[in-house]
Amino acid sequence: MCDVCGCGDPEVVSVPLHERILSANERRAEHNRSHFREHGVLAINVMGSPGSGKTALLEATARRAPDLSLAALSGDLATEHDAERLARAGIRARAITTGSACHLDAGMVHHGLDHLDWESADCLFIENVGNLVCPAIYDLGQRANVVALAVTEGEDKPQKYPVMFRAADLVLLTKIDLLPHLPDVRLERIEQSLARVMPEPRLLALSARTGEGMDAWLGWLEESAHGTG
Ligand code: MG
Repeated sequence: MCDVCGCGDPEVVSVPLHERILSANERRAEHNRSHFREHGVLAINVMGSPGSGKTALLEATARRAPDLSLAALSGDLATEHDAERLARAGIRARAITTGSACHLDAGMVHHGLDHLDWESADCLFIENVGNLVCPAIYDLGQRANVVALAVTEGEDKPQKYPVMFRAADLVLLTKIDLLPHLPDVRLERIEQSLARVMPEPRLLALSARTGEGMDAWLGWLEESAHGTG
């Protein structure tokens, strides 16, 4: 069990201790942010459930944006599989294996940066551990939060995990190539659920498999990477 997951359960961690952990993380996140600013790197915290298509999204991004220099840290409890997939797609990638922790924190990211050639990248993806709760609570120093939500996850997922979706700058509705096989799933119901928790809903629907919708995502990425933000 994670002892710093932010669930607020006093049996797991006291509130004062939890606040101290978060405040130490904030300082480390600010340190990371200054590194990213110094090198002009757009750092994006990519979050979503396990199986929401985060890694596939990044692979497809690399394939379709050969002019963007991409680096990635990829978090999972175990294995380096995702970092290996990203490296095969042409992204400079490093795995962060968290053991039992259900999220990345700013210290893990800083340690990962020490072992990755990221300074010359346009964009650093920080692929968080698959989880819709704790990753939203821990600042990593990123400039933007992107949340992957697969069409198979249930139309009311944003309302069930409001902290995650409220913190998102962009939500990517993934795996839309599966929609013909999901006759009960309605896009407008997902949009309505998101609108209830995300102050200014920003949703792009795409398929990493077919490429449908990828241009809008790449446009957002280019604009964010080369904008002043
Ligand atoms: Mg992954």
